[in-house]
Amino acid sequence: MITRQLSKADLHIHSTYSDGTASIPEILAHVAALDLRVIAITDHDCIAGGRQAAQLARDFGVEVIIGEEVSTAEGHLLALFIEDELPPGRPAAETIAAVHAQRGLCIAAHPYDRCVPSLGAYGLHSRNAGPRQGEWPLDAVEGLNAGVMWAPRGCNLRAQQVARDLRLPMVGGSDAHSLATIGQAYTLFPGTSADNLYRAIQRGDVYCGGGYWSVGQYIDVSRRWVRQRGVHGLVRLALDGAGITQRKRSDSAEQGLTSSVPI
Ligand SMILES: [Zn+2]
Ligand SMILES: [Zn+2]
Repeated sequence: MITRQLSKADLHIHSTYSDGTASIPEILAHVAALDLRVIAITDHDCIAGGRQAAQLARDFGVEVIIGEEVSTAEGHLLALFIEDELPPGRPAAETIAAVHAQRGLCIAAHPYDRCVPSLGAYGLHSRNAGPRQGEWPLDAVEGLNAGVMWAPRGCNLRAQQVARDLRLPMVGGSDAHSLATIGQAYTLFPGTSADNLYRAIQRGDVYCGGGYWSVGQYIDVSRRWVRQRGVHGLVRLALDGAGITQRKRSDSAEQGLTSSVPI
């Protein structure tokens, strides 16, 4: 039997440029010691962290995809392999077209997590099947998100079922907000490079694997948020995360954090 060599990528990582608790250099140093060949930095509505990571990646022997978790009007969309930042608040269809215009790839993030704005609540299935086929021309569905909070296994299984129904590839991502959660879920692909991964997603030759954040990791992330941003900041993050308030967009977010209490 011939076995193929598959590599691991984590396509969903947040840094201190949005609501992650680790800086880009910390993330790269951590990933350099893991078995991940490729990572995507996908901060909320911001690609400054992804850009910084791509610039520093070579020093750490890590390959980085510049990404963004875009807050579309209908929920979170992972945009990968992009060069220009996408603004939040636009309809998903418009955002997907803008990502494709720069040859990026679009993935429905945690589509059935009801704790955060997600495309599943706005008809991910119906907009891509039957008479509305192709209204949201996604490139893949996040079939395994390690950080989902709403009935984790059930909501990932539903995402996987919908991906099968729509004949879309399934990818996995940790939705990491701390070093310890990086790689908790991942995407397997043939080859070793980001370019190999791009082509593998396009032809549907990718697989998701991994597990979930532990309770201890949720508590650890919450503690770090409080230490870095205070209780007020934690409340603000929770409201932003649930889509009740809109995130403040700031490229200097990391600057603000580095002057706060160290982790
Ligand atoms: Zn999200
Ligand atoms: Zn996320």
